[in-house]
Amino acid sequence: MLLNRILKARSLFTTCMLLLWSIGTQQLHAATVKDVRLWRAPDHTRVVLDLSAPVSHKVITLANPNRIVIDIDDSSLQANTQSVDLQNSPVRRIRTGIKDKNDLRVVLDINSQVKPRSFLLKANQQYGDRLVIDLYDKEKQANKVIKHVNDQDRRDIVIAIDAGHGGEDPGASGPNRLREKHVVLAIAKELNYLLKQTKGYKPVMIRTGDYYVGLQKRRELARKAQADLMVSIHADAFRDHRAHGASVYALSRKGASSAMAKVLADDANDSDLVGGVSLGDKDDVLAGVLADLSMSASLDASLQVGGDVVRHMGKIARLHSKRVEQANFSVLRSPDVPSILVETGFISNPGEAKKLATKEYQRKMARAIFNGISNHFSQSPPPDTYLAWQKRNRETVVEYTIARGDTLSGIAQRYEVSVASILKQNDLSSSMIRVGQKIIIPST
Ligand SMILES: [Zn+2]
Repeated sequence: MLLNRILKARSLFTTCMLLLWSIGTQQLHAATVKDVRLWRAPDHTRVVLDLSAPVSHKVITLANPNRIVIDIDDSSLQANTQSVDLQNSPVRRIRTGIKDKNDLRVVLDINSQVKPRSFLLKANQQYGDRLVIDLYDKEKQANKVIKHVNDQDRRDIVIAIDAGHGGEDPGASGPNRLREKHVVLAIAKELNYLLKQTKGYKPVMIRTGDYYVGLQKRRELARKAQADLMVSIHADAFRDHRAHGASVYALSRKGASSAMAKVLADDANDSDLVGGVSLGDKDDVLAGVLADLSMSASLDASLQVGGDVVRHMGKIARLHSKRVEQANFSVLRSPDVPSILVETGFISNPGEAKKLATKEYQRKMARAIFNGISNHFSQSPPPDTYLAWQKRNRETVVEYTIARGDTLSGIAQRYEVSVASILKQNDLSSSMIRVGQKIIIPST
């Protein structure tokens, strides 16, 4: 009787489970994939799965034949994967299937070797939840790494030079139809020239002619160039023509936090990277901390270099403010590229406009900005740069006391320097040395 009951109960239980299971497979998936989109970028392919809700997933790379397998827990497919345009991408075909009865498996058949990276993006105004799979081209990655190794410890400091306005946007206007866009481009070109002349620097011009570049695009170009600093060059205008003086701006704290908010807004373009760290797959608190760290590091660096620039500008121009001012300028809102905006003077002030229009003053202004930048970076160079290497060498001068039996050639060999360089360093005219004599071993 009892056994019977148990059996009955069990069969009822089984029936219930079967019922639940069948509902589960048909309707009760946690999420559906509603669309599949694909873009080809110069170095990677982005595949986006539009989801009805967040999912947990796994990406597996398999060879022979090459394929990327994406297993999405408790999900079903409602998208037509056959209509996705795969042209110019390494994806040859998209296949889908059901795995373990309840999970969705998406298989990307791949032509060439790729390195996948995946992350979830939360819903925003424009899109719902998304699963992003970036397929990085392997050959290009390898090239990048080799280049990095070669350049290691000796890379140039990259300065993005942004001449404000341009094209249909003339910026401020002064007497004699003087236009800000022309003045600032001329100063930018001079600064570019000075940096090019200096070992250890690589300038990158954000615009090189009279055309407009969007503000976000300017930031993107600076980031793409992996700039250590972006300098945006402007000239002020004010309705009161007496207003005068040069100034340097960094982003305000408020601007920084709004920029950070934007990074965290999970916009597919902007949420990508902060300080080289992907935010997409981090939870909100951690992502916030990372963005905040990166942003305040950038802001600190901006304020420092801005201080050096304004100090040097003060030597050739009247200053509007001796301190670095802070404002919420869009072009300064890079979370990971220190950025300053230089107002070279008031183009609306007849006296300053007259100066700003001359080649001589433009050169002086560029030289002052250059001196500020170079002052800053020779004191605090990023660790992997030529300037840092140079600084380390400067700081590691060895003083050597000659001992019995020493020869200059022997010492030179020991320290891996040439005899000639020791002679030169110590102002010696011959290689005669005496015991107890102190000499400086030059750095390599
Ligand atoms: Zn301007």
